[in-house]
Amino acid sequence: MRWTQTYIPTLRDDPAEAEIVSHKLLVRAGYIRKLAAGVYNYLPLMQRVLLKITEIVREEMNAAGAQEILMPVLHPAELWQQSGRWSSIGKELMRAKDRHDRDLVLGGTHEEVVTYLIKGEVKSYRQLPLNLYQIQNKFRDEIRPRFGLMRGREFIMKDAYSFDKDESSFKESYQKMLDAYFKIFKRCGLETKMVESDTGAMGGKAAHEFMVIVDTEGGENIIFFCDRCDYAANMDKASSVEIDPPQEEDSEKPLQKVSTPEVKTVEEVTAFLKVPARKLAKTLLYKADGKIVAAIIRGDRQINEVKLKNTLGCIHLEMADAETVERITGAKVGFAGPLNLKRVTIIADEEVAHLKNFVTGANENDFHFVNVNPERDFKVDQVAQIRCAQEGELCPQCKKGKLSTSRGIEVGNTFMLGTKYSQALGATFLDSDGEEKPFIMGSYGIGITRTAQAVVEKFHDEKGIIWPASIAPLSVEVVPLNVGEERQSKVAFEIYQMLKENHIETLIDDRDERAGVKFNDADLIGLPLRINVGAKSLKENKVEICIRKTKEVLSIPQNEVVEKCKKLLTKL
Ligand code: ATP
Ligand code: MG
Repeated sequence: MRWTQTYIPTLRDDPAEAEIVSHKLLVRAGYIRKLAAGVYNYLPLMQRVLLKITEIVREEMNAAGAQEILMPVLHPAELWQQSGRWSSIGKELMRAKDRHDRDLVLGGTHEEVVTYLIKGEVKSYRQLPLNLYQIQNKFRDEIRPRFGLMRGREFIMKDAYSFDKDESSFKESYQKMLDAYFKIFKRCGLETKMVESDTGAMGGKAAHEFMVIVDTEGGENIIFFCDRCDYAANMDKASSVEIDPPQEEDSEKPLQKVSTPEVKTVEEVTAFLKVPARKLAKTLLYKADGKIVAAIIRGDRQINEVKLKNTLGCIHLEMADAETVERITGAKVGFAGPLNLKRVTIIADEEVAHLKNFVTGANENDFHFVNVNPERDFKVDQVAQIRCAQEGELCPQCKKGKLSTSRGIEVGNTFMLGTKYSQALGATFLDSDGEEKPFIMGSYGIGITRTAQAVVEKFHDEKGIIWPASIAPLSVEVVPLNVGEERQSKVAFEIYQMLKENHIETLIDDRDERAGVKFNDADLIGLPLRINVGAKSLKENKVEICIRKTKEVLSIPQNEVVEKCKKLLTKL
């Protein structure tokens, strides 16, 4: 490819819209352009990267026995109503209407459609297992589209769906996908960590996420690891055990109401009453499917809304607004407590259930209770772990190792769906014993566009992107330092031609620009190898090969360039 004939609109400055480094680089290096929030154009270099990732995904999915299909983006709403997700996904579901005012969905995932597809057609256990996948644009009305391709409203996903006759066969199918995922990401240059995750609106029994560990802001997820065993879970899912919990007092002291004028936050209350935060219980009010719920956790803990939602089994959960808090508690925000709360379901974190003589709000302006004890002073409807795990706590699996955290980018997700969708849509088969049974399903996603950007977030330096050779848009960039010089230009084009003939994808920067400008652009777009063709080395019939990743510069005789590039590329 010739630069002068390719659309690579590089920019000198960082785009104002971008917050994280990979987003800045993709815009600056002329890979992507924004159309609307979370909606992007993929320019020629980006499209080449995406096709490379797609091809790797395709090869590994096919090798794992999955078959590629293409399902519609446009779905009738009825299917989503049947599965219950028309309402449970809420606003993230991208909806549309046709000319007859019929509701439609722009697919963000295809469990309903694929189940409907095979329903009534795959009839016998003999046709199983079956795994169908596709690579397609997905639509999700994300509440906060951001970080470029990381969280788009339209993005490219590979989604696969497995159908099995029983649990043991499903286990094999699931494992095949996990193995394929590790291979796919590795081939894209990424080490991934598989972590336990929440099943969320997808439903089903268990789920795993594939995380790329990064130490930059682009890592939206917090992942917990055990330093002793293989336990790894994301923030939503991670549980933990407190190290050396202090001995609780034996006796329950008499309840007391104390004046705490304008003392509202945990910090203020603990300072005012001279108690540690762990001897205070925070009361957080939520609306769960319209009903008011009070969640009680220790003052030194953070609430985990995913755990709370799962405990309640509700579809919509949101924090109650100040007005609701005042109406329910009769006091300003900051003085809520579990005592005398009427018509409110009380969920206590397991730590609170064991706590004695602690502090809570009094549901009265400027007052708190001290020496509160659960059951004696208020009724708990349910006890569950509803707090976030914290770094340094004990691992819930081995109970010996300590938990540490890192940031991660979720590039893939696998779900054990069980029979949630096959049952909801009545998709069944006849088993060998003649019995009609619902399919056992799995669903497996990879964010193609997010993976591409995750690679940039992981591999870059102050000058630009550093693509792994496997998914680089092209492998080599040939730079004649001065296209005006006949010999340089001639040799550069000869090398370009030779590389192409040897099936090495090559870009030649044939612009009439200063060498410095071309070098900067070359570093920015990040192809693995750059060949400088300049007057000085040509005197010895040599050219320079610059390795983007290691910054090494090799002086190579002109006639050895192709072989050298081939060799270098296998290692990059
Ligand atoms: P997240 O927790 O990041 O919202 P998710 O759990 O909703 O992801 P899945 O429904 O499992 O994601 O989708 C499969 C894969 O698609 C994800 O692992 C991710 O790589 C990608 N993906 C999901 N949402 C987006 C998005 N809004 N933009 C780009 N890629 C996405
Ligand atoms: Mg999501």
